[in-house]
Amino acid sequence: MFYIGCHLSSAKGFLAMGKDAEKIGATTFQFFTRNPRGGSAKPLDHEDIAAFLKLKEELGLGTLVAHAPYTLNGCSADEKIRDFAKRTMADDLERMEAVPGNLYNFHPGSHVKQGVEVGITYIAEMLNEILKPELHTTVLLETMAGKGSEVGRSFEELREILDRVELSDKMGVCMDTCHVWDAGYDIANHLDDVLAEFDHIIGLNRLKAIHLNDSMNPLGSHKDRHARLGEGQIGLPSLKAIINHPALRHLPFYLETPNDLDGYAREIAMMREAWS
Ligand code: FE
Ligand code: FE
Ligand code: ZN
Repeated sequence: MFYIGCHLSSAKGFLAMGKDAEKIGATTFQFFTRNPRGGSAKPLDHEDIAAFLKLKEELGLGTLVAHAPYTLNGCSADEKIRDFAKRTMADDLERMEAVPGNLYNFHPGSHVKQGVEVGITYIAEMLNEILKPELHTTVLLETMAGKGSEVGRSFEELREILDRVELSDKMGVCMDTCHVWDAGYDIANHLDDVLAEFDHIIGLNRLKAIHLNDSMNPLGSHKDRHARLGEGQIGLPSLKAIINHPALRHLPFYLETPNDLDGYAREIAMMREAWS
């Protein structure tokens, strides 16, 4: 079974996302837990969630990814900003219990002149405070492009974080194809080598999801500008090789390409055609 979807707006609730997924031929999707710039979340609508879970079952949708607001910074030098990230993520994880068994992805953060070691320490501390044995969500660190002082620009940095988390079996990794490319991993020409490196440093068993994006910029550019599939520097043949790679083909893929719903429907259809 090929699980592919895209980032959908959560503004109208879960059922509306399920219907959007159906409309565009998606078998999974990703959504923001709240306004991507942070702020408070709407109260959970249990009727909406029950109706969605029924539709999810009917459509056979796969594992969903909830994406944390990208402005959170759990490794800021400012204690208030770190605390806000921690409280927001703890609240998100509590809310995710209404849709148990899914994934929660976040950007590790930016260390801003404190150095990557300090950044990693703060991130691991935060995770150790918010992860609870009773939670039914797997928390994913996203591979980052290495823009500015982003933590998670290398597999080693992610491994360092994972090593320091006590409830380690609650943790996984989401690989963003645009980000790893921008970070300098040549998934277009040396996919096997990159995956072997990932396996050696992190372990492929930790890889739970793929953000499938092309990149506007060259290998190692550290820019993080997503392109539509085939309109960037990774290119369609390589993206098709990624969804078909024996180590990846069973994973859920999420498009975060600059598209409206029709554009997403076309990219999903194109990838479905290519998945053999
Ligand atoms: Fe992201
Ligand atoms: Fe991403
Ligand atoms: Zn990105």
